[in-house]
Amino acid sequence: MDQNVKQKVKDIFPPGDATDAREDLLVYGYDATGEERIPELVVFPHSPEQISAVLKLANEYGFPVTPRGAGSGFVGAAIPTHLGVVLSMTRMNRILEIDTDNLTALVEPGVITATFQQKVEEMGLFYPPDPASLKMSTLGGNVSTGAGGPRAVKYGVTRDYVLGLEVVLPTGEIINTGARTVKSVVGYDLTRLMVGSEGTLGVITKIRLRLLPKPETARTALAVFATVDSAAKTVSAIIRDKIIPRTLEFMDKSAVAAVEDYLHAGLPTEAAAILLIETDGIAAIADAELARIKDICVKMGAVKVDVAKNEAERETLWKVRRSISPAILRVRPSKINEDVTVPRSMIPALMKRLAELSERSGFPIINFGHAGDGNIHVNVMTDKKNKEEYERAKVAVDEVFDICLELGGTLSGEHGIGISKAPYIEKEIGGIGIELTKKLKAVFDPNNILNPGKIVPEEAAC
Ligand SMILES: Cc1cc2nc3c(=O)[nH]c(=O)nc-3n(C[C@H](O)[C@H](O)[C@H](O)COP(=O)(O)OP(=O)(O)OC[C@H]3O[C@@H](n4cnc5c(N)ncnc54)[C@H](O)[C@@H]3O)c2cc1C
Repeated sequence: MDQNVKQKVKDIFPPGDATDAREDLLVYGYDATGEERIPELVVFPHSPEQISAVLKLANEYGFPVTPRGAGSGFVGAAIPTHLGVVLSMTRMNRILEIDTDNLTALVEPGVITATFQQKVEEMGLFYPPDPASLKMSTLGGNVSTGAGGPRAVKYGVTRDYVLGLEVVLPTGEIINTGARTVKSVVGYDLTRLMVGSEGTLGVITKIRLRLLPKPETARTALAVFATVDSAAKTVSAIIRDKIIPRTLEFMDKSAVAAVEDYLHAGLPTEAAAILLIETDGIAAIADAELARIKDICVKMGAVKVDVAKNEAERETLWKVRRSISPAILRVRPSKINEDVTVPRSMIPALMKRLAELSERSGFPIINFGHAGDGNIHVNVMTDKKNKEEYERAKVAVDEVFDICLELGGTLSGEHGIGISKAPYIEKEIGGIGIELTKKLKAVFDPNNILNPGKIVPEEAAC
């Protein structure tokens, strides 16, 4: 970026809200992929008008702008691959309204997911989307990636809770989408288009969210299985019995062993797989559903099913689940983490095919995730520093995607596409889908200044 242009951007902000000090830039160029690109300037807007002014300059002088939440994304979507300006949304972090009459909330995008959940729960309300990163991720990042979590099996993902948005378009205009009503069918659903668009179609500056009454109680159980197949088949058996638990999480043997090594939580390391199951609602219903699930687990071959006796035990089980990502990095220095999703009934077939792939390719593949909605986090364990090995690992990942699509699945259930999965997206949406995506991007962002190079592979981008 030209120094004069950089100064023009800095002039939009008061001192302290714009920086190009090297040590500051270093911390805004990475995300959870471990990839990194150091931006030229980082700004911390407090208003949509400031963002609009930055984007107008970007169109005039042709520099790229990358919105950023907490940088916890798994696909490189927040990495400023073309350098330029990073818009850190973390200082737009106010909860503006919690409307208890209409069960909605209005928030700025930089609010941390867990902070918001805690606030609404104190008021007897409930915001279900619960990515495992909830203590660090922002609501703006969640909306932009369409984040999900364990509770998606019963309550859906972030997309299902967004009623409307305030968005600064790449060309600088500020628009409002959606409505604060429960229903609205006015024109194209621009809100849904923005959700999951990974900061490529606009910068989200306000989010109106739907809330639910907080369930009276939740019950949690850990079911231990001697084979992966019996655990995988139990997932379908529970749903077939017409029970939708609040969560239905899967961990394979290597995931269990890695977390035990990391946390020393007393996990059954002899297990081939475990399921972490939760029911909720009125106490009598939560208890009755858990009892039925327990019976199904035993019938399907569970070696044992332990029910958490109190809140502390529940919290330990969830700590186990949330620690898998960091814990498995002790197995190998790097992981290629894909969140493929298949129809639930295909989980046993997916597990079998992944075990075969692991054996054939020689790479440890660690699997865990939201089995209740068919979303399995497949981790091909490798060492990025070993170039030859890493290239072979990428071939194995390519095969993971093929297996998933053959089983009627999708490349990403919740992490998005970013740069990591852009090379594979055509496998799923096809050439016409890519063309349409490019045309949509060009309508919103004719000069391709907002988060360029994401979602569609670079050579196919506008
Ligand atoms: C340990 C760990 C566990 C995780 N578990 C889960 C999980 O269970 N489920 C899940 O879905 N994900 C999970 N993730 C991935 C990640 O946390 C989510 O993708 C999250 O939604 C990203 O939020 P963020 O605030 O960090 O966004 P960032 O990573 O900063 O950005 C993500 C994308 O959103 C865009 N963006 C951010 N804010 C805005 C805005 N205001 N306007 C427009 N675009 C914006 C960025 O440009 C980028 O494209 C996990 C990550 C980690 C590290």
